[in-house]
Amino acid sequence: MRVAVIGAGTAGPAAALYLVRQGHHVDIFERVQDPRPVGAGILLQPTGQRALAELGLLNGVVGRAARIDGLYGQNLRGRRVIELAYKDLDPRLCGYGVHRGSVFSALFGALSPAGVHVHPGVEVSHVDADGHVTIGGARHRYDLVIVADGARSHLRPPWSRVRPYPWGALWYVTEDAAMASSNQLSQVYKDTRKFIGFLPSGERVGHPGVRTTSVFWSIRADAVDAWRAAGTSAWVDDMRRLKPDLPVDGVEEAVFAPYFSVRTRPACQGRVAWLGDSAHAMSPQLGQGANLALWDAWLLAEGLREGGADGVPGALAAFSRSRRAHVDFYQFFSWLLTPFFQSSLPLLAPVRDLVAGPFHAWGWYRRQMAETLCGVKTGVFSRIELP
Ligand SMILES: Cc1cc2nc3c(=O)[nH]c(=O)nc-3n(C[C@H](O)[C@H](O)[C@H](O)COP(=O)(O)OP(=O)(O)OC[C@H]3O[C@@H](n4cnc5c(N)ncnc54)[C@H](O)[C@@H]3O)c2cc1C
Repeated sequence: MRVAVIGAGTAGPAAALYLVRQGHHVDIFERVQDPRPVGAGILLQPTGQRALAELGLLNGVVGRAARIDGLYGQNLRGRRVIELAYKDLDPRLCGYGVHRGSVFSALFGALSPAGVHVHPGVEVSHVDADGHVTIGGARHRYDLVIVADGARSHLRPPWSRVRPYPWGALWYVTEDAAMASSNQLSQVYKDTRKFIGFLPSGERVGHPGVRTTSVFWSIRADAVDAWRAAGTSAWVDDMRRLKPDLPVDGVEEAVFAPYFSVRTRPACQGRVAWLGDSAHAMSPQLGQGANLALWDAWLLAEGLREGGADGVPGALAAFSRSRRAHVDFYQFFSWLLTPFFQSSLPLLAPVRDLVAGPFHAWGWYRRQMAETLCGVKTGVFSRIELP
């Protein structure tokens, strides 16, 4: 088949690699002329690890990553609010803190050697359900079109629902050695309006031997201009109220990341499928976005393994149905949890702290939370078995 993939972030290159291995002709279009490894640290969950292992890329990514055994969140009084451990599900499991750029480099670097035709600096302006892709006014026909153009997609179908969250995160990368070796994602909350998080993220591409931590600071999207105007020293003072020994190297390069909630259901039409954030961006509260994107790519390719071009619309419809429970679970819980951690509703904080802390003594709860963290939940009582 002739396959067009739009977007070379996370989902796009993964899908291109799975499909080229099946013998298809794959073109990948990326609007950025010179795509580079950019972005904050992300948590590579067992689902994402499995999808990368299938492509033979996991070891390279893990070689630059920081092992993460769990998540620990406390309020300003030092009281435990969240404690999640991968070992509560299986002692062999862990997460990896890794720069989004490391995952990107591994995927993007594998494209040309695998035979994918890479077209950087090409923006796709339109896709049609019959497989036509419009570039610079010219239409090109494909048997399959995969749209993986991210949370700010311009190529979504009209039934997509897109809602920006009022809150997002500022992030920067520090090279503090002690913090980088903590093996846990840690967070400190002051009610629901202030929140700082630390994710050991391993090495950046091009900086071997320098271990890093990504620092996240919760902020309302409409407060970003005031934050810029105030300068970094006021911000550092604010952050140090939550984390007195905060390392601040890198603070001058802080970047704002907005959050979006996107729901595209069905995530296909005719010969076109939407993958990753273009189909289901969500708040990063559960650390699943890149993992869901990788899982999408893998399952889509598996669904297309049998049958040729004629079977594409049916295979895409089956793919979209098969993704529903997994995506819905994470979308619902991200939406439910976000106001307890990032919102202008401080009264939710005592509820959160009273309820969540004591639940950790309950083994069933800890296991459910570990399953949620691992990215395998498809419902309250159902889950994916990792192959
Ligand atoms: C603060 C923050 C923290 C996060 N933490 C985590 C975490 O811990 N774990 C996790 O798994 N996820 C996390 N995420 C989410 C994760 O980064 C994304 O879910 C993931 O990268 C989505 O991949 P994607 O391929 O769908 O889109 P993207 O990576 O956004 O890629 C889209 C690509 O498409 C290109 N493009 C766009 N339009 C066009 C066009 N018309 N033509 C051609 N190319 C186009 C873009 O240039 C881009 O390269 C976090 C996100 C944020 C904001």
